[in-house]
Amino acid sequence: ERLISAARADEEDSFELKLRPTHLREFIGQNKAKEQLAIALEAARSRGEALDHVLLFGPPGLGKTTLATIIANELSVGFQQTSGPALQIQGDLTAILTNLREKQVLFLDEIHRLQPVLEEKLYTALEDYKLDIIIGQGPAARTHVMDIKPFTFVAATTRPGLLSSPLRSRFGILLRLEFYTDDDLRVIVQRSAEVLHVPIDADGAAEIAMRSRGTPRIANRLLRRVRDFAQVRGTGEINRETAMQALELLEVDAHGFDDLDRRLLLTIIEKYDGGPVGLNTLAATLAEEQDALEEVYEPFLIQHGFLDRTPRGRVATRAAYEHFGLPLPRKGNLLF
Ligand code: ADP
Repeated sequence: ERLISAARADEEDSFELKLRPTHLREFIGQNKAKEQLAIALEAARSRGEALDHVLLFGPPGLGKTTLATIIANELSVGFQQTSGPALQIQGDLTAILTNLREKQVLFLDEIHRLQPVLEEKLYTALEDYKLDIIIGQGPAARTHVMDIKPFTFVAATTRPGLLSSPLRSRFGILLRLEFYTDDDLRVIVQRSAEVLHVPIDADGAAEIAMRSRGTPRIANRLLRRVRDFAQVRGTGEINRETAMQALELLEVDAHGFDDLDRRLLLTIIEKYDGGPVGLNTLAATLAEEQDALEEVYEPFLIQHGFLDRTPRGRVATRAAYEHFGLPLPRKGNLLF
């Protein structure tokens, strides 16, 4: 398991649950999304209606699930969670929709992986709170339209581009989550340390924040590992020194790169002369899943200017060469 992967790891769930903010005021950063949501929540509350359907999108570990639970808490309504891959047959979806309670939140993670037939079934449920149910088989089959309770559908995806436009148009509130600033992450680390009763100073928190790839899930995970280190090798208190020592031991460098980031960039630089190299070739060379590279590993490297996505493939940037202290290649007669 990759230490700084933003992907969710099962055994971490109880740890994550403990650190998850429950109300909007505790949700740090993402000011644009937060403000948009706060207004929508207040309007729904004052009208006494179900909140409009919400689509949350952005890289993994940035707080999509957290925001979905916060929406339910803020509205004091029920919360139920499922995911695109978990819903396999129509009956599953029908059962969930017919059992909804008034105004509750139904959260569907990874909506881009929902099967198309189920997606179509969702349309009328989302639009008119109605569900077509087919009773009987063959020529005797009849369609019965069933009312379902008004509810709020909250969906999350790391790949908004894969959603069909009819599906996208069913959402009234679109919230894009961005990578967090180091400052926001420092506050998140300090808050998590408080919840876990771990003594930490501002410098220690800043050191962890800086290496967390803009991602709260990674920040919390690193905090946990640094806490172990501080307990075993130090006094239990986290300061800059213990944080740096622990993170060096874990081979997480000052940019939050780990072995895979380094391999990815060095492969492009050394094997493909800086690129461009196609995603599938790159995935095969690294023996990694193409999807994982694209959804989990690349966004951070692109955002921080180490990697470029071009129509002809991936390219290592000047910053990547500088990071490794490697000379820039000559492309034609030009240093690029
Ligand atoms: P996603 O669903 O986008 O993958 P999660 O909502 O599961 O991400 O968030 C991962 C972890 O990061 C959660 O356990 C939560 O504690 C923490 N987290 C996310 N966003 C914030 C935030 N804005 N403030 C504090 N903690 C956060």
